[in-house]
Formats: sequence, structure tokens, C-alpha cells
Amino acid sequence: MDILEILPDSDPILRKTSRRVTHVDENLKKLITDMYDTMVIKNGIGLSAIQVGVLKRFFVYEIPVLVVDEIEGKPGEKPCETSQADEANHETAPDKFSEATENPGKDESEADQEISYVYTGDYLVCINPRIISKEGSVIDDEGCLSKEGWHAKVERALNVTLQAYDIEMKKFVKTVSGLEARCVQHEIDHLDGILFTDRAEEGTLREVTDTENGESEEPPTASNDNESEIAQEHVITIDGDRTVGHD
Ligand SMILES: [Zn+2]
Repeated sequence: MDILEILPDSDPILRKTSRRVTHVDENLKKLITDMYDTMVIKNGIGLSAIQVGVLKRFFVYEIPVLVVDEIEGKPGEKPCETSQADEANHETAPDKFSEATENPGKDESEADQEISYVYTGDYLVCINPRIISKEGSVIDDEGCLSKEGWHAKVERALNVTLQAYDIEMKKFVKTVSGLEARCVQHEIDHLDGILFTDRAEEGTLREVTDTENGESEEPPTASNDNESEIAQEHVITIDGDRTVGHD
């Protein structure tokens, strides 16, 4: 596998509008695979072709599965409500991220749980994507692999219905929510030369601290469940692209 160079947000290429894909050949398939591998290595959740310097309208993404493990030796404490690593978590993940990065305080519950994010390899390729409907809005933290180490609050639609073509150039329609919807909107913006910083709420762009990036453990809180505080080794931010802090 080849790990590709991701262009920084200062690169003028990222301001260009990508062109529609007319067919998928072996070279493009190889590029897609390399983009996915690069995204995983970088702990992202999405990556657009333009970010690796290819002006074609497609992106890859995968929302990793959230896994929370109980750490042995701490019996009797209640399990975290967010320990079910399923789709439901993805839908609430932006709120967790927001809380995770803004409330880096400690909580008792973080002592007995470990959180990790696992890529299943079940990623999606979205070619010539377009949003055909959207509803709701939510303001939450967002980052970008082209601007690693920076976050900002960005308003996005809560639910979007996406139309795109898969790697076989078959059209599909998919409705996504929460983090996945945020990711899709972020990536489609890339194809139009728009960066998340363009949409940032005024005064919210900030450099992520080591603590936020997972240098120490911190408990994110699901805002729709105030009791769900969980320890984490990694902080995810969206990057439409995800960045997860490393130890
Ligand atoms: Zn991005």
C-alpha cells in the first residue's frame, strides 16, 4: 500500500473545484485504496481526492466502531451507557467530541474504562456525490487532515441524504446522520474548494492541546446522556476527516 501525502490547507489546490468522474479504471481503484489506507494511518474518518492533489469528485470515508472496554480491577462500578459500539454511537459522536475537547476534566468513570476506535475496512467510496436533502442543524467540533491539530465549531445539517456512485459506478442513495452526516458534508465541501475553516463559527478555531489530543485520558460526555462519561485514550475530531490523538 502507498501512503499518500495530504496537502495542507495552505495549498491553493484545495481551493479548486474538482471535476466529475466519468469512469473508474484500475488506476483510480488503486488511488481509492491508497486514499483509504492513508486515511486510516492518519486516523481520519474521511478523505477527499483533492486532499491528495487529485481533482476528481470523490471521497472515501469510514466511521470507526467505538469500543469501550472495562479495565480489570475496577469491579462494581457501573458500565458506561456508551459502551455499545454500534451505529447509535456514531449518531451522537459529534456531541461527545465536542464535550471531549471542551471538558477535559477527570471523572471517576474514566478510571475503569478504555475507549478505542476500530476500523473494520468497510469503507464507502462516494463518487460524484451530491446532497439531495438535509434537515436539522448542529454546531460541533470539526477538524481536517489538511489542518491537523486544529479544531473549530462548525454548523452542519444533522441528517443528509446523499446520492453518489460507488466504485462500480452504480448510483446509490444513503441517508446519514450525526457524525457521518458531518463527514459527508465536510468531504463534499472539499470537492468544491471549501474548507471547514470557511464555515467555522467566529472565534472558535483553535489549536488542539496535547490533552485534547489524547496525551492524557479524558472523559467525553454524550450531550444527550449526561451520565455517559467515558474514559478515552484517543480524541476523535472530525476531519470529515477524523483525527485521533495518539499516545
Ligand atoms: Zn478535510
